[in-house]
Amino acid sequence: MRILMPYVNKRVNNQIETINSYNLLKLKYHIIRKETNNDIDYFNLLLNNWGIEDLIIWEMDIIAYECNIRSLNECDKDICSYNYKLTNGNSICRNKDRTPFLDNTEYSDRVGFGFTKISLAMQKIITPSQFKRKSWSTLDTEFSYLMKDLDITAHIHWPLIEHNHDPRYLG
Ligand SMILES: [Zn+2]
Repeated sequence: MRILMPYVNKRVNNQIETINSYNLLKLKYHIIRKETNNDIDYFNLLLNNWGIEDLIIWEMDIIAYECNIRSLNECDKDICSYNYKLTNGNSICRNKDRTPFLDNTEYSDRVGFGFTKISLAMQKIITPSQFKRKSWSTLDTEFSYLMKDLDITAHIHWPLIEHNHDPRYLG
């Protein structure tokens, strides 16, 4: 299992807790922390690490700990994701009718990459090369479109994971 952590040198104050956790966990897990300098570096990070072993994507402003890694890693489902709140207070996860949810719903039709496991088996079914758009902000949406085409839903892990996003910034 490898963990990918794309980051940018912006909003650094929102990343302090994530970086502290990373500095502890990198001693135990194979974490590839990679600065993304342009719009498609995140896409390339996925592409270059796809199809090798189980993946966890851990975005720079998600505060995760070993218990969260273990929860995803020990689950036998192929796509697992923690739900989290967006700046507008809604959840990243959505039901079939596109409504967000903050209860303990077990499956979601939409996955946000914030803290998500994609098994090796699933990486052979959905690949980044199938994405229509490669911009960093669209990758999880593209993945979710492909899930929908295949009638695949993501297994949601709880409780909500903390998304340390300054509400003064959109996106
Ligand atoms: Zn799971």
